[in-house]
Amino acid sequence: MTVSARKRLQPQPPSANGRVFSSSDRRDLLTIEALPAETIIGLLDRSDEYLKSLIATGPFQKSKLLEGRTIVNLFFENSTRTRTSFELAERRLGGDAVTISPAASSLTKGESILDTVHVLEAMKVDAFVVRHSASGVPAFLAKHLPPHVHVINAGDGAHEHPTQALLDAAELRAALGNLRGKRIAIVGDITHSRVARSNMWLLKKLGVHVTLVGPETLLPPSVGEVFGVAVSHNIESVLAESDAIIALRIQLERQSRGLFPSIEEYRERYGLTIQRLARTRAIILHPGPVNVGIELDHEIASHDRSFMLRQVKRGVAVRMAVLEWIFSN
Ligand code: ASP
Repeated sequence: MTVSARKRLQPQPPSANGRVFSSSDRRDLLTIEALPAETIIGLLDRSDEYLKSLIATGPFQKSKLLEGRTIVNLFFENSTRTRTSFELAERRLGGDAVTISPAASSLTKGESILDTVHVLEAMKVDAFVVRHSASGVPAFLAKHLPPHVHVINAGDGAHEHPTQALLDAAELRAALGNLRGKRIAIVGDITHSRVARSNMWLLKKLGVHVTLVGPETLLPPSVGEVFGVAVSHNIESVLAESDAIIALRIQLERQSRGLFPSIEEYRERYGLTIQRLARTRAIILHPGPVNVGIELDHEIASHDRSFMLRQVKRGVAVRMAVLEWIFSN
């Protein structure tokens, strides 16, 4: 029996109202893994257009693209950049945006996520933007929502963070041109990073040579083979050859036990110091928030090869492009 036939025969979990929707009926953004390269390139191109309107001086001319649409941002984990840029993107496209944090909702009274989402859906919501500490929550919700209610993954556990990878790629492409054949290193806490996973999928689809760099305790053993990327435990080996370096935050909140001897030793072996910057021509990206003095030095954050603020600006443009794509189905 084929895998898909076996899947069809498996009992589906019942939803609150008894309906389960298949992924083929719907348009969501749940993973980069499932996104074809042409769609990715289309989204990057549209983000270039939106970026032009965001950097123009004077008041922003709101569009009417999402007029009459309501989007609920459900953030079960803290966020500054992603949450704010989704809200701004929704409003700048003329939609109504509501942000709900679980602490202020009935979730604290024992209501399940699915029930909460069905309650909100009853208020005529057109899309949910979901961030959660557990991998798979956005996909689970999408399965239980009717096809006209879209779901966008704003980061789920250590699984994926699709819009972060799109905004990183848009900035990489703006700086380096066609990404095919370029060499990009992703440095740091790979084990806990959804940003690393979405970036690996995306950069591989665009023909980039990706090298992961980090201590063995922060690099899952099979990750190189699974994603078809190179692995190194020595940052010095990638400095000279890299066109770009994506530094990742050490995610101490997801580490139940110490995974490296000390912060000082981590900085010493893997930190992007000003001395290391002198040994590479690479541009530097970081998804933020940054542990300054751990994964990168203070001077690097404000260096002209640092792309961090450009990434933030691009975040709004990419999320506008994603919303346009989601609602153009
Ligand atoms: N902001 C990114 C995320 O939500 C990166 C990080 O938190 O380190 O995954």
